[in-house]
Amino acid sequence: MGLLEGKVALITGAARGIGKAIALRYAAEGADVAFTDLVINEAAEGTVAEIAAFGHRVKAYASDASDFDQTHAVVEQVLADFGRIDILVNNAGITKDGLMLRMSEAQWDAVIGVNLKSAFNFIHACTPVMARQRGGSIVSLSSVVGVSGNAGQCNYSASKAGIIGLTKSIAKEMGPRGIRANAIAPGFIISDMTKALPEEVRAEWVKTIPLRRGGTPEDVAGVAVFLASDLAAYVSGQVIHCCGAMNC
Ligand code: NAD
Repeated sequence: MGLLEGKVALITGAARGIGKAIALRYAAEGADVAFTDLVINEAAEGTVAEIAAFGHRVKAYASDASDFDQTHAVVEQVLADFGRIDILVNNAGITKDGLMLRMSEAQWDAVIGVNLKSAFNFIHACTPVMARQRGGSIVSLSSVVGVSGNAGQCNYSASKAGIIGLTKSIAKEMGPRGIRANAIAPGFIISDMTKALPEEVRAEWVKTIPLRRGGTPEDVAGVAVFLASDLAAYVSGQVIHCCGAMNC
């Protein structure tokens, strides 16, 4: 029996990358999976097919996670389609890096909107559902730079630090209703997001990682399974670093 048998998971931005790896791992552990992404194109349909191969229900929804009204509408639809929501994974995220002196207001707003406001939107829409069900697990993707900061990423680091404050507050506020909230702080994970960096920058990053490799989306998915499952029944308000000891 899988660790997530009978549970319904809603994952944002899961057409590819870390979100996709979490969706596949959740399905392998027995969960039904609803996921969102900006557009549901051929690649996203491919993700749907891969998840469906595990024999559980899966459906993809086109939705901008930074949009409050779209989020509430999509959560209503997921509820109508699946009947319940046990696990919420706030995964959708973007980078728009730049030094503060050159950062535009648009760069700041976009990153805060997609990385932080999206988590507020989904938590706002899902916690009444979880409260009625008397339980739920919220897993949000932070980052090691949300803890340590990073030159050239003040918008991204602030959004990821915000995820930690949001997570700890929700854990305290919703704990009495049986809802747990935790964050994962990945380090350098090899995905489309980090493939955008020049090869020499990536090579330099790897040298600073004690485990001497970049992480994989599957490394992060393992932590996300633990946090969503009953193995973590007494774990809430925590930030688990998944970074090869790069930030400890
Ligand atoms: P990715 O770019 O490969 O995937 C992000 C997904 O989110 C994409 O499918 C994208 O279409 C979707 N998305 C973007 N904007 C959206 C929106 N407004 N609404 C809905 N979906 C949207 O990135 P990834 O590396 O898989 O990162 C996933 C999460 O993990 C992000 O929150 C990221 O900040 C975090 N993270 C990644 C790393 C890393 O090294 N890759 C490190 C720390 C944290």
